[in-house]
Amino acid sequence: MNNRVRVRFAPSPTGALHLGGVRTALFNYLFARHHGGDFLLRVEDTDQARFVPGAEEYIINALKWCGLTVDEGVGVGGPFAPYRQSERKALYRQFALDLVASGHAYLAFDPAGELDEHRAAAEAKGETFVYGGRNRRALKNSLALPPAEVRGLLDAGASHVIRFKMPAYEELVLRDIIRGEVRFNTYLLDDKVLFKADGMPTYHLANVVDDHLMQISHVIRGEEWLPSLPLHVLLYRALGWERTMPQFAHLPLILKPVGNGKLSKRDGNKMGFPVFPMEFTDPETGEKWRGYKEDGYLPEAFINMLALLGWNPGTEQEIFSLDELCEQFTLECVNKSGARFSPDKAKWFNHKYLQEKPDAELAASLALLLADEGIHYDEARLARVCHLLKERANFVSDIRDASRFFYSAPGSYDEKGRRKNWKEETPALMRELAGVLAGVADFTAAATEAAVRAWVTGKEIGLGKVMNPFRLAIIGAADGPALFEIIEILGKEETLARLATAVERLRAGN
Ligand code: GLU
Repeated sequence: MNNRVRVRFAPSPTGALHLGGVRTALFNYLFARHHGGDFLLRVEDTDQARFVPGAEEYIINALKWCGLTVDEGVGVGGPFAPYRQSERKALYRQFALDLVASGHAYLAFDPAGELDEHRAAAEAKGETFVYGGRNRRALKNSLALPPAEVRGLLDAGASHVIRFKMPAYEELVLRDIIRGEVRFNTYLLDDKVLFKADGMPTYHLANVVDDHLMQISHVIRGEEWLPSLPLHVLLYRALGWERTMPQFAHLPLILKPVGNGKLSKRDGNKMGFPVFPMEFTDPETGEKWRGYKEDGYLPEAFINMLALLGWNPGTEQEIFSLDELCEQFTLECVNKSGARFSPDKAKWFNHKYLQEKPDAELAASLALLLADEGIHYDEARLARVCHLLKERANFVSDIRDASRFFYSAPGSYDEKGRRKNWKEETPALMRELAGVLAGVADFTAAATEAAVRAWVTGKEIGLGKVMNPFRLAIIGAADGPALFEIIEILGKEETLARLATAVERLRAGN
């Protein structure tokens, strides 16, 4: 038996990978790294009707942006290649036929129209049609029809599927690493299709066959797959693979920020936050979805936020680097109950990570945003601008928005601030202030502050009488970050020029 930890992220390329999908990938990745095992990427594209072009590429890019390195799989290769199920098509048929031969599956010829009629009839009675132990003998399949008729249908090339023969009544007691014992009764389950008329396996068959062949040790996936667990376990048994069957862990749902239910992509648009790691345009509908990346999130912050959606480290610690997560992550510390998503908490994480970023790195990102808007800036000042403004920022774009006065003198002045702070005596005071500042040789925040304070004290006036109009003159607004820090970055010449302009343009009174 293979004892090596091998886990897989197995998305279906039916659209962009949303938050929940990335969290599944992350928990698989963390589990693999924690145990020194392998993290695989397998693309489950057997449902051709739901295939979305570009989705696979999106998934690969999203994992890259998040820093989740794939050891084996699509885009990387490996000893069990190919890892795209559509390229493994030829492989699955034999397993389905083996199941038929061993009596665990059967051929079903029911035309789609007839099944629709059964469904409609059941619905009319307020029931749900279930293809299974209670009615399969009355339907068109190889268990119900005489062998000669089955042969005839096959010879005539009749379209058919292969269905799993669900045991009539069996209590299954299964183990889930997160949930402990989970019980199912096969009485309630239907005869799922394993192999489709189009020559493709269904998800269930392909998933079990591949997990077996790829020597997957643990299946870690979303809670929505828990109802499939009994079928999968029965398939392992039927195929004779129970001894090496993977262990299962079903992750809790990610819940809406408010109210009940699972977080959906619509919630993001409604409440103004992204649910996708990166921007995505649906090729069919043309609908555009926001992404964490484009919204200015740092991948480390995004990953840290996701890790705590369902995983509980058991301490007060909230900030974890990817390495720390790998070291500390265990499935035993994943909660059973749903994890509520909070857009504010996501911003909080980004704020925290932004504070840790070197100013030069932030400056490089800020430069890109400024260039986008065609704003001219003095490159040498940007790191200091970032240093000054990051404390109040969640995103680099917040720094951009708070820093506009650094790139050009105020075009206008806050009207309320003017009425409140620009008095009759202000122009004279500002001229005097300009004189004081002009006399400061080394134009640092500390030096200008000391000079201004000494002058104000000598004049026996309140500091506010000077600082409020001074701020208005320099940044055009009544509040903002530390003014002496701002003028240090602007420099003496620009500071004096702005003071002079304000004296010229601003008038006291209402
Ligand atoms: N292809 C399935 C999905 O899209 C994989 C589920 C599983 O991990 O077994 O989520």
